[in-house]
Amino acid sequence: MEIKIEDLKVLFSEEQLQKRIKELAQEMNEFYKGEEVVAICVLKGAVMFAVDLVKHLEMPLKMEFIRLSSYGSSTSTSGKVNAVDIKLPNLNGKNVLIIEDIVDTGLTAKFLIDFMGVNFNVKSLKFCSLLDKKITRKVDIEPDYYGFEVDDKFVVGYGLDYDGYYRNLRYIGYKEL
Ligand code: 5GP
Repeated sequence: MEIKIEDLKVLFSEEQLQKRIKELAQEMNEFYKGEEVVAICVLKGAVMFAVDLVKHLEMPLKMEFIRLSSYGSSTSTSGKVNAVDIKLPNLNGKNVLIIEDIVDTGLTAKFLIDFMGVNFNVKSLKFCSLLDKKITRKVDIEPDYYGFEVDDKFVVGYGLDYDGYYRNLRYIGYKEL
């Protein structure tokens, strides 16, 4: 499949994304009231979402960035998660909030949750994803927070790429097949 910009249909507009992100931040501000948080942005896909979300978070917060990849074609994941760069400070006793772009098979989320469990004794762990493709799930995992549910479409924009492109779009789009 090739995706050209003129083929893209808007799935979530900039306004819809920003409105929902504010709502998620409000929920988090209530949940973490008086607590400090370490927000971990999973590069590269979650970069736009993480940056916009943390601007609305009011608790004392530190940001960390990790990079993962899963081998596969441009539009499907292989299911094999590869930790490209996962250097983190000591997270023992911290409230950790993982920020992802999309949960698809759930393997990346599971890898990260297991990684935190093996390496740290965190105070709390929450997993937040902008998008949730519930119907393609292969492992039994649910994000604690998600922005929107999507069906089995390959989506691009707002951090999500097709072959490296379209991360800079302000909206999330898809190609109608
Ligand atoms: P998983 O299958 O492990 O839950 O998802 C892993 C990664 O696959 C996501 O973080 C994302 O980078 C990529 N991915 C899954 N679905 C889509 C999609 O519809 N569009 C794009 N651009 N990436 C996706």
